[in-house]
This record gives sequence, structure tokens and C-alpha cells, in this order.
Amino acid sequence: MAESAQSKSYPCEQCGGTLHFDPQRGSLHCRHCGATRLVQENAQPVAERDLFEGLSTAARGLGASQLRTSRCQECGATVDFSEGLTATRCAFCGSPRVLEQAENRSLIRPGSLLPFSQSREQSSAAFNRWLAGLWFRPSNLKHLARIHELVGVYVPYWTFDAEVDSRWTAEAGYYYEVEETFTNRDGQEKTRKVRHTRWEPADGWRHDRYDDVLVCASRGLPPDLANRLRTFDTTKLRAYAPEYLAGFSAEEYAIDLERGFAHAKASMDQSQASRCAADVPGDTHRKLEVQNRYSALTFKHVLLPVWIAAYRYQDQVFRFLVNGQTGEVVGKAPYSWIKILLTVLVSAALLALAYLLARSRQGDV
Ligand SMILES: [Zn+2]
Ligand SMILES: [Zn+2]
Repeated sequence: MAESAQSKSYPCEQCGGTLHFDPQRGSLHCRHCGATRLVQENAQPVAERDLFEGLSTAARGLGASQLRTSRCQECGATVDFSEGLTATRCAFCGSPRVLEQAENRSLIRPGSLLPFSQSREQSSAAFNRWLAGLWFRPSNLKHLARIHELVGVYVPYWTFDAEVDSRWTAEAGYYYEVEETFTNRDGQEKTRKVRHTRWEPADGWRHDRYDDVLVCASRGLPPDLANRLRTFDTTKLRAYAPEYLAGFSAEEYAIDLERGFAHAKASMDQSQASRCAADVPGDTHRKLEVQNRYSALTFKHVLLPVWIAAYRYQDQVFRFLVNGQTGEVVGKAPYSWIKILLTVLVSAALLALAYLLARSRQGDV
């Protein structure tokens, strides 16, 4: 067994069992004898790091470490896992094709995380409520989905802070109405009001601050699902301490810092464009051009907690996620087309019956 795996394991001082991080207690807990131990909190504040320093560190390949990891042969997610966990099934896609590997990799280590505060039991209850509330789903889905347990995974994210100075130019449009006379079809002369636009050049600038723009760096979570997890509260981030990972796995980032920043910049550019558009005076605008200058760029590499149920139905992967901090639920489930078709047919038959009844009653009168 690799050394790093040993260092990630926390034996119970009372019984020699393995301690796991308990989301509800917020401390390490022994399931065997019930002993608890506080997490050795890092006294340092959660640090923002300079983006350009981070980019050059990543390029030089500092921060290499040896980890016990597993890589999914199907979806490509690479997951670090702690002692007491064996990766027999990929948490993200349910595939059994996972390979354990010990690797020397140059990665930026996570500096902070949000600890799990939703327990497995709470998340599993949320999963069952969600399943029960679904309509038109295959009957065996509930059975199928329960077979696989929820897996608690720390998902890698980048967060970015920035200051942006935006200069814009545009043509501001002012509406005015002109009365026109016209002849209608009956040969009468009438007047009507017609709207015109007067265009005037306009320009301006604004200054904005962005705090903790989140970019998901996961390979295992598809972006359409990951982006729907919106309720993470990053003001609650804690400095990284390995105890928080005891009993959970952590995915390694697959989107690197450079590409992560490109995503963040694209979304900040977009929101600056709409803020500048709102600054243009008048009733409408055209030819808006915005130039952004970014400064005070910092980043953090953080781990955010997610409970995942990945299950396969007719060769497709469906996922259910619970935000491990807030309990927010997102998921996708297959539809049963037979049930939908039957419902449509039955409603059509009922409508036809109602129609026939109404007609026969009219005939009686
Ligand atoms: Zn114990
Ligand atoms: Zn996978």
C-alpha cells in the first residue's frame, strides 16, 4: 500500500478501527466504538493566490505528489481515495472498469474545501423523495437506483476573483413618434402614429469586482449537471485539512488552471457586456463594443462536497446529485415511453367518450 494512503488514514485510539469524517458532527467518528476526534483545523485563513504566479507554477510542474488514485476507463475521471475505501465502481458513471494506480503527478493541491455537512442518510432520503416524485418512469427504476449506494465525492473547482475596468462605445437609440396620414381601403383619409429611432453616439466606462466565480474542473460530472449545482456558499470555505477527506474520495481536476480561467473570463466578459448594455442611455442601442481590462486576478483551487448516485438504465448513465453542503438536489432519470404512450391513449379515449356522450345528450333534447 502506498505511503500517502497510510497518511490519509486515521486509526481510532480506543479500538483501532478507522475514523471517518462525520458530516453531522463535523468531526472524525468511529463507527465501531463511537469515539470522536476533532479535525485539526488549519489556523491559516483561506488564501487567494495570484493567478499569474499559479499559471507559472503549474507550467514548471511544482507541487508533485504521490497519491493512491483510480482512473475510470469509461468516463476518464481520476479519483484519489482514502484508506478504507476501495474503488470498485466509478462514482460518476457507475462503471466497474476502474484501475487503481499510484502516480507521480504535477498538480496544484487544493487549498481549501467545504466540508460535507449533509450526511449519507439525509442525502439518501432526499434521493428517495426525488424518485417517488417522478412521473412516467420505468417501474423497475426505483429498485434499480436503490441497489447502488450514494458515494460522497469532493469535486474539484476553481474560483476566481477579479477587478474589471470596462470601456464601451455604442449608438444610443431614442424613440419618437411621427403622425402620418394615409388613405384606408374605403378611400378615407386617416392619421396614425409611427415610431422612429434617433441614433446618437454614446460611450462610458464602469468598474466591477468579481468574488469567487466558480468553474467546475471535474471530468466525471457532465457540465450540464454540475452547472445546475448553484447553492454552494464559498464564504464557508475552510483551509484544507486531510481529515475532512477520511471516508470520502476526491476527484483530481481535469480542467487545468489556464482553461479554468478561460471559462471564468468568458462568463465575466458576458456579464460585463450586459452591464454595459444596461448603461447605454436612451430606449435602445446598437453597435455596442466593450473593452475589458482585468486586474487583481487571484484564484483558489477548492474541493466542494457532492453525494452522487450514478446508475445505468438501458446502457445509459443517469445521475442524481445532492449538494453535500446545502442539500440541494439535481438529477436526471429515464422516461418510460410505454407509460407516456398509454397515458396519451387513455386520455384520448376518455376525451372521445366524453364527446360521444355530450353528442348523444344533445340528440336527446
Ligand atoms: Zn473506535
Ligand atoms: Zn466513470
